[in-house]
Amino acid sequence: MPTAPPHRHESDRLASVASYRAASAVGDPGLQSLVDVAARVLDAPLAGLSLLGADEQSYLARVGVPVAVIPRHLSLCTHTVSGAAPVVAGDATADPRFADHPLVTGEHRLRAYAGVPVFGRDGLPLGTLCVIDVRPRDFTGEDVALLERLARAAAGLLELHRRDAGAGLAGRDVLTESLRLRRAVDDGELRVHYQPVVDLRSGRVAAVEALVRWQHPELGLLPPGRFVPVAEASGLVVALGRYVLGEACRQVAAWRAQDPAAAALRLAVNVSGRQLADPGVVPTVLGALGDAGLPAHALTLELTETALVHGNDVQPALRRLRGDGVRLALDDFGTGYSSLAYLRDFPVDELKVDRCFTASLSDSVRSGTITAASIALAHDLGCEVVVEGVEHAGQLTHVAALGARYAQGYLLAPPREASACDLGATWPVPVGALRRPAVAVPRQAPGAVRELPHDAAS
Ligand code: C2E
Ligand code: CA
Ligand code: CA
Repeated sequence: MPTAPPHRHESDRLASVASYRAASAVGDPGLQSLVDVAARVLDAPLAGLSLLGADEQSYLARVGVPVAVIPRHLSLCTHTVSGAAPVVAGDATADPRFADHPLVTGEHRLRAYAGVPVFGRDGLPLGTLCVIDVRPRDFTGEDVALLERLARAAAGLLELHRRDAGAGLAGRDVLTESLRLRRAVDDGELRVHYQPVVDLRSGRVAAVEALVRWQHPELGLLPPGRFVPVAEASGLVVALGRYVLGEACRQVAAWRAQDPAAAALRLAVNVSGRQLADPGVVPTVLGALGDAGLPAHALTLELTETALVHGNDVQPALRRLRGDGVRLALDDFGTGYSSLAYLRDFPVDELKVDRCFTASLSDSVRSGTITAASIALAHDLGCEVVVEGVEHAGQLTHVAALGARYAQGYLLAPPREASACDLGATWPVPVGALRRPAVAVPRQAPGAVRELPHDAAS
């Protein structure tokens, strides 16, 4: 029986699996419902959501699978995890990956398999969502797409468990929380705060990043880390994102109209993978811009690697939006495993260097090297660079000297509600900020990189 090779980042993958396993999501009714739906809709007698460990595959939820754990060498899902891509075998006896497998040749007589990876926050496959049949059958592209959607929902729930375990909140009732959040979206309890992005060449605010908060009646102002994962797991992030986009576009259009210092202000909005994969994302974004009267090039959508993991689902929307002039930024750059691959596959206008590099700039030569290389790479690709998490003057001088044009962080300004933002504020231009050109001549094929709007620059 040909065994699947380990995933190319197997030791990191196993560490990731361990962090999710520690959160113990076994018995979560939401995960069980997702597996029930997979089995029911695809009419399969066996279905499971599992994590693939070093030696075993353990099920967090299952239908028809008699045991909670099986040895890894008996897992059908190793191929799905190994390649981090869907695997479909309509007739396992005719598929070289499965034909000799004891569960196929033996008494269990498994005949058909369709599995998709379940990705963790860092983009590594934790395990799979799969359906198995005891008769050969055809799985369609739609079947696989459904599994992928369910797997994304499962990943959202797993992430929630992981974070809750870290925050000592394990056992929180996700269903109740998502119902409460639904009401919060409807009742106007969400707030948008804005954090300036400063142009280091002029010392002025070039853009604001919209950051959502929940004004909870009992718990006070909650940060996004406390409720966005619930929103992602339940799908509410689509409605939440629509609200943030609408509100932020309206606010920035008002600033541009009222405040001469903000006439060319740009807006950055975070979007999750779930939002991007929603079929309504293009009209939502263009509608928010149109309703506010904001030009498309004033808006940057910030995407994380996690949002881009499901490339095929989100590529068309991103290309369409970019074609209409909306700018795209790769957020938290450098923290994932495939930042460079995403840079190759997704046309982005901006890189946001993650704050973990900024934080260790002074005490880690390696961080400095990575930050410098990221900035140079971005410029070579014709992208702008925003360095995040600048908290000290020394860091600001350092990133300016490395050639980054834009910076964001508590040193410059924290996120604040709109009425407390001072968009006319100026900061001293750091030494070194004027030394380098902001953007080198793009080396990509002509037309591959749209000319960047520099309207906010001067
Ligand atoms: P992010 O996109 O990386 O946003 C930057 C986060 O860094 C913000 O946290 C901000 O308050 C914080 N920050 C800014 N300057 C500094 C600094 O100097 N030092 C440190 N340590 N932190 C700094 P926040 O507001 O808690 O947001 C956390 C994350 O939640 C965001 O990370 C983003 O991924 C997500 N998020 C926020 N708003 C939205 C939204 O509307 N939709 C979606 N899908 N996600 C959102
Ligand atoms: Ca962001
Ligand atoms: Ca970020």
